[in-house]
Amino acid sequence: MSVGVIATAHDFRRACQEARTDGELALVPTMGYLHGGHQSLIQAAALRAPTVAVTIFVNPTQFGPAEDLSRYPRNIEGDLRKCEQAGATFVFAPKGPEEMYPPGFQTWVEPGPLAVPLEGEKRPGHFRGVVTIVTKFFALSRADCAFFGEKDYQQLLVIRRMNADLNLGVEVIGRPIMRESDGLAMSSRNAYLSPDERARATALWRALKAVRNAFKAGEVQPARLEELARQTLLADGLRVDYAEVRDPVELQRPEKVDAASRLLIAAFAGKTRLIDNGAIGAAAAGGLAATPFGFCEQG
Ligand code: AMP
Repeated sequence: MSVGVIATAHDFRRACQEARTDGELALVPTMGYLHGGHQSLIQAAALRAPTVAVTIFVNPTQFGPAEDLSRYPRNIEGDLRKCEQAGATFVFAPKGPEEMYPPGFQTWVEPGPLAVPLEGEKRPGHFRGVVTIVTKFFALSRADCAFFGEKDYQQLLVIRRMNADLNLGVEVIGRPIMRESDGLAMSSRNAYLSPDERARATALWRALKAVRNAFKAGEVQPARLEELARQTLLADGLRVDYAEVRDPVELQRPEKVDAASRLLIAAFAGKTRLIDNGAIGAAAAGGLAATPFGFCEQG
């Protein structure tokens, strides 16, 4: 039996309402072109709740004017197979942007200081688009819980804050980053990479490991660790958008790095912008473990 697809907001609301009579409903919002990272979220959601609703929507309001909205990869047939394989109950794939932003739409959710640095600084308006669409999905589904990847670490924090600030009552669950066997974080945007860029893209993972090793060897100055990350990225010909050490809760720059501090990276391989992040105190040499949908850090 293939997973059901819903095209309208009205039908999505109704399907969720009906499903919630069976118990909890878990939501997994995505932009499609699904990979193991998305599937790991769906699988975790299926372990938690009898109904798993996946949304597939390339949300135009979170893209800047110079970004890749029109060429963002899509493959709905493949996505439905992956949803089914991972345990989704149904998929909401709005039939067009107007389904979520009909004529007359004018109300936005405005995120606060957590959305200002890093991605917020490099992609003005991005998080306003993200929290607005996620609020709409929370409202339509009235989900008990929603699953998000740590791959987009700042997004996870911004959504948690939005959910608490607006009393939406959804349990926001963060899940680990799924990686390829060579450490590259899975991403729909990896499809843009040429073979040469793909080889160089592992520099983000290597930068994270180099920073962990330096921390383990005693380095606690954020600036030195950031410089090490930048040098690792540059050595592979990547253009660094940012490489910053932040605390894991407020995303402020710590005076001294501790084990929970995070390195957050954005870098371009050719025209493709990649992001990655991780806790600096995680075991630097603690390899990757195989899971059903990709590789992930042990521990
Ligand atoms: P996207 O389709 O890129 O908007 O991502 C949808 C959800 O999947 C977000 O919560 C992402 O953080 C999550 N995600 C994307 N890539 C990964 C990954 N490699 N590992 C775990 N979660 C991911």
